[in-house]
Amino acid sequence: MNISQKLLEYYDKQGRELPWRFDKKPYNIWLSEIILQQTRIDQGLIYYLRFIDRYPNVFALAKATEDEVLIMWQGLGYYSRALNLHKAAKIIVNENEGVFPTDYRGWKALPGIGDYTASAISSIVNNEVQAALDGNVFRVLSRLFAIDISPHTSGGRKLFREKAFSLIDINRPGDFNQAIMEYGARVCVPQNPDCEHCIIQKDCRAFVINQVHKFPLKKKAISIRKRYLYYLVLLEDTGIVIRKRGTDDIWRGLYEFPFIECLNEVNPEEIVQSEEFAEFCGRSCSIEFVEQARMHKLSHQEIFPVFIGIKGFNGNWKRKRCKMIDLKMLGDFPFPKPLVKFIQKYFI
Ligand code: SF4
Repeated sequence: MNISQKLLEYYDKQGRELPWRFDKKPYNIWLSEIILQQTRIDQGLIYYLRFIDRYPNVFALAKATEDEVLIMWQGLGYYSRALNLHKAAKIIVNENEGVFPTDYRGWKALPGIGDYTASAISSIVNNEVQAALDGNVFRVLSRLFAIDISPHTSGGRKLFREKAFSLIDINRPGDFNQAIMEYGARVCVPQNPDCEHCIIQKDCRAFVINQVHKFPLKKKAISIRKRYLYYLVLLEDTGIVIRKRGTDDIWRGLYEFPFIECLNEVNPEEIVQSEEFAEFCGRSCSIEFVEQARMHKLSHQEIFPVFIGIKGFNGNWKRKRCKMIDLKMLGDFPFPKPLVKFIQKYFI
């Protein structure tokens, strides 16, 4: 048996029974692939089932508003995925009468679909021979062939693609892609791969030369930006001030409370005394509470949120893209995770 046959046999016998794998409908496969990017399968599964329940087909998804889709996505992170998913649904419905692409190129032309996703979907749905290269596949291939260059260089990407194509089963490309991904996620894992019970151990160059720990090549450490956000929670008896975020920063398209950002941690008292605060809230407001929330980690940033509850404000807040809404409506707007936790604690 060659490597491909062994991986397919593993997949057939031990592959996880996930709901989108049963009938390979394009909508279900597309949705699962977008949700599972940068998401653990157990968490992704919950969101997938919720989405299918609320939007059972592409027409229902295209009909939803952007805010509704973002609320469904709340907590999953990387919100541009949700915005692109929604945009793509509208294109499929409005420009193609709800008919899905039939090949790699067609899928790749849709918003939010890169090389990996187009390859994965077209191989699974359209049975097209395309190699889907995600982090799991890069890891398995780097060990199998003892590849000591990064897949993120142009030369490395080409080499990994060649190796993947050398293994792919042309009769079952979609199953092969899922098999190698699954093997990377469950057996050939980043730390302590289960080499002892590995079915492709004899084919694995890194294992044969006793150098598994050297592969894949370690990534360079990324620099993390720390951000100190002092949220101004402007309250009236039944109202609260919110605004929609712009498109040039994290949490694109979500809502938030206006905030003052500092380069370092400062005493909230300094924020309240600042010119920026006075411009927003006036000088005669009262501070109702100060809540320091836990640090929130993103891939390249650490967010340190502090919430300052304010009443009796009269500054220029209306000119800062802000609007007052009824407190009872807070649950109707999508917020980033740290704000959701705060809102749930105080207002819901
Ligand atoms: Fe991965 Fe170990 Fe198997 Fe090689 S022998 S493919 S490193 S699990």
